[in-house]
Order: sequence, then C-alpha cells, then structure tokens
Amino acid sequence: MMSFANAPEPAPAAPVIVPRAEHGISRKQIDDETLKVMYRLHRHGFKAYLVGGGVRDLLLGRRPKDFDIGTDATPDQVKNLFRNCFLVGRRFRLAHVRFGRDKVVEVATFRRKAEAGDLPENPEDHFAFQENVFGTPQEDAFRRDFTINALFYDIDSFSIIDYVGGLEDLAARRLRVIGHPVERFTEDPVRMLRALEFCARLGFSLDEDVRQGIYRCAPLIAESAPARIREELLELFRHTVAGPVLRDAAAMGLLEPLLGGYQGDAESFALLERLDGRTRDGQPVMEPFILAALYLSRFLRTCPPTREAPVTEVVRLAGLVLAPHCGYFSIARAISHQARELLLGVYRLARGRRQRGERRLLTHPMTPWSVELLACWSEATGDYRDLVQQWRKALSGKDSAPPAPADPARKRRRRPRRRKPRDGQAPA
Ligand code: ATP
Ligand code: MG
Repeated sequence: MMSFANAPEPAPAAPVIVPRAEHGISRKQIDDETLKVMYRLHRHGFKAYLVGGGVRDLLLGRRPKDFDIGTDATPDQVKNLFRNCFLVGRRFRLAHVRFGRDKVVEVATFRRKAEAGDLPENPEDHFAFQENVFGTPQEDAFRRDFTINALFYDIDSFSIIDYVGGLEDLAARRLRVIGHPVERFTEDPVRMLRALEFCARLGFSLDEDVRQGIYRCAPLIAESAPARIREELLELFRHTVAGPVLRDAAAMGLLEPLLGGYQGDAESFALLERLDGRTRDGQPVMEPFILAALYLSRFLRTCPPTREAPVTEVVRLAGLVLAPHCGYFSIARAISHQARELLLGVYRLARGRRQRGERRLLTHPMTPWSVELLACWSEATGDYRDLVQQWRKALSGKDSAPPAPADPARKRRRRPRRRKPRDGQAPA
C-alpha cells in the first residue's frame, strides 16, 4: 500500500492571513482594468479576490500572464454590475468583463466540489452542473489543483489569504496537490500534466506523493477529452517547457496514454528543447511545426533520407506517421497538411544540395520552416550541420554556387514535339 504521509493536512479551521505590511504584492502590479472590476464588486458589497496564477506569480516576483478574479457575486449579479459583461462557458460558467476591443477580465464565482445531493436528477445534466456549484472562499480554495494555485489577494484589506499551505510551499519551491493526489488525479487526470508543467515553468520540485500519484494514475489520462489535452499540450510549447515536461512524462509512464500511444525518444525530447529555445527567442508557436517536430524522429526512421524515394511515397509515409495523432486530436486538415509538407521538406533538404527540382524547393513557402526544423534536429543530434549552413546560405540568396541542374524530366517535357515527316519529305 502506498503511503501519502506528505499530503497536505485536511482543511485548517482558519486561514493564514498575511497583512499588507508583510508581503510584497502592490496594487501597482495589477492592471487598471482588473483593479476597476475588483473595486466595483467591493463597492457593491461583494468579496473581490485576485486568485490563481496571478497571486502565485506576483509572490514569486514573476510577471503574471493574466489576472483572474474570484467573488461571492453570482454570474448574474456580476452581469448586472457591468454594462460590458458577458456570461460564457457551459462547463464552467464565468463572467467576462470587456474593456475596449481586446481586454477581458475574467470573474468567477467561488465554487465548491459538488456532492451527490447537489446534482440534478437527470444524469445528462450532471456534467454542466458539477462545476457550477457555488461555495465559500475556503471551499473555492480547496477545489483548486495545487496549493500554490489557491492563494487569494483580498482587495478589501490588501492581505493574502491562504487556506491550503500554499505560502509555505511557495517558500520551499515545491509543488503539492491539495488533498490526496490519487483522488484529485482520478477526479481530473489533466492535473498530472499540469503538475509537471508548473514544476518546469517555476523550477519547483515535485513532491514525492505527487510523483507516486502520477505513477499510479498515469493511464487515466487517456480518458480525458482530447480537446483539453491538445490545449494543455500547446500550453507547454507556449511556456517553452515542452521538452522537459514530455521527457518527465515519458519517464513516469504518462506520455503514451497522454498522446494516444506516442513514444518519444531521446532525440525527440532534445529536439523539443531546441524548439522551446526558439520560442524563448521570439519565434511564434505554430501547431504544424510542433506536430512535425514531435514526429520527425519517427519519420526519419520510416523514410531515411539516405534512401531515394519518389515525392508521392515520402508524402504517403509522412501522412502515415502523423495520422494516428491527427485522427485522435481531430487536427484540421490544413494543419496536418502543413505538418506533412514540413516533413517532406526536411527529407528533401537532408538529401543534400544539387538535387532535382532544387530551384522549386528553394522558393516553396514552407522551405524556410523545414530548414528551421532541420536546424533544430541538427542542434539536437549533431547530424546535417554543414547541410543546414548550405541551405541557409542558399535561401538567403548569398549562395555563389551555380544553380542546381534543372529537372531532366521537365526538360524532356518542354522539348518541342517533332513534326511527323510529310509524305516524300526526308526526316529532319
Ligand atoms: P497560468 O495562467 O499562468 O498558466 P494559472 O495557475 O492561472 O497559470 P489557469 O489554467 O489559468 O492556470 O487556471 C487558473 C486557476 O484555476 C489555477 O491557478 C487553479 O487554481 C485553477 N485550476 C485550473 N485548472 C484546474 C484543474 N484542472 N483543477 C483544479 N483547479 C484548476
Ligand atoms: Mg491563468
């Protein structure tokens, strides 16, 4: 029987409250629109807390991605307070307060875990209902995933409220699940991936009971909705932690059930780390590129560039390698098509220069991206270093080498047809 001696204690009777003078969060660090929404809720007698990642990041001295607000006002009450407010979400009903064209402040009513008695009679309604049972701030803290994600900043007193031991874990730089990890991972297996993601993003250590919980619950992640997994996977790339997180996930038996049977290898994880590095340098995150990177190693084994193959065959093999992933995650055809083109591009680039159709390859819109992908592979494995340099030079137009010979097949097609000799005339 596994022991969970490190699991956080059950709900403490009273929260730890850190007054303004004893913490570093200042209102100057919170954007004006979020403050406006909080003040208005407060003026109308409601609680208004900054919740989740915003509090965590401010306490760590990091710049939060966004700010979320928790309140005891119901979504309808929030809507009544703001002219520019829209209620969104079926699974998790939220109020969006809009400012101008782009700015949205998210306001969520405090919730608690639904009990059997809370749910409506018709089981078909349970799904939409169970995420929307309103509760107290304390209950709201306990339904969250990790202790460091359950801290509140109260706009009334400017104090920090901690019901779950999150401040202690922030100080110790460790990630702990609220409650029993096996129970919480069974409830929502996506939390396992989030645990690895936050550890990698924040440089935190994974608490031993969380690690054991992942080992035990890993297969359950196959039951999560593919659309959610796809979104969390993209988050890993946006936060530039895909390489380390997927490597950890593989080591803990989480990767295969996560990606519908995907088995990474050392080269793939090293390649993804290079991709993370490029994103940190300002390159955009593009799903076709991610797919091609995830499957490049398998593709190069299936279709080695040392072996000459017709383009149609290369495209077929690239499609075959990508098909299970694209099917499982319902990837749009335009995206899988581009991923296939990228793999074809890498194959052709890896065949070397002076090849048939090189001129067309150099002007193809996907080729610069294929060169980038080949460069990531090269940095990860040491293969094709010179070739990457040569292709980059050729693409930049600084290549002094003569153009590659034109495609002989095309030449033959262009040759004028010989006229049939007329009767009595000698053939030319
Ligand atoms: P960031 O936005 O920087 O990625 P975050 O902590 O704000 O980090 P979100 O995904 O935006 O993460 O979620 C907001 C908050 O909602 C989290 O901090 C956490 O408290 C709660 N939360 C999100 N997903 C879950 C989940 N699967 N189970 C329980 N609580 C969750
Ligand atoms: Mg967030």
